[in-house]
Amino acid sequence: MTHVITSLCLRDGGCQTVCPVECIVPGQPVEEWPWFYIDPDTCIDCGACVPECPWEAIFPEDEVPAAFKAKEGQLLSMPVGTEGFDVVYDGTNHDGDAVHLEATKALAAGEVVDLTPASAENARFFKDGPGYSAAG
Ligand code: SF4
Ligand code: SF4
Repeated sequence: MTHVITSLCLRDGGCQTVCPVECIVPGQPVEEWPWFYIDPDTCIDCGACVPECPWEAIFPEDEVPAAFKAKEGQLLSMPVGTEGFDVVYDGTNHDGDAVHLEATKALAAGEVVDLTPASAENARFFKDGPGYSAAG
């Protein structure tokens, strides 16, 4: 099994600093791969990353919610060009460095979203995307 980072990720980076096996990779280029991604072959499912995420974006793979109920102010982030994702997010990560995302969508309190497509996206990042070399 593995843990999975979902579209709630806004590149805070806190998860990466605590992972004992260093299997969390920031997506690049950010326009195409806006989240951080977890190498499923290396993740040991320790769960240390989960409480570090201020956006509650990380789940064990078999617990990624199909009906996630959003809190006020939560955002989804997707690759640039994704239909309906036209809000620019400018924030800061856990180091205080600027984070700029071109394609986000604000969620209303109680809005229900399916986060499960993140599992396939994460796998694709390491199979076909820029994460391939990082996964060895
Ligand atoms: S801590 Fe959360 S928002 Fe930050 S990079 Fe990790 S998953 Fe993304
Ligand atoms: S569950 Fe543990 S090993 Fe897996 S990505 Fe999170 S911190 Fe790393």
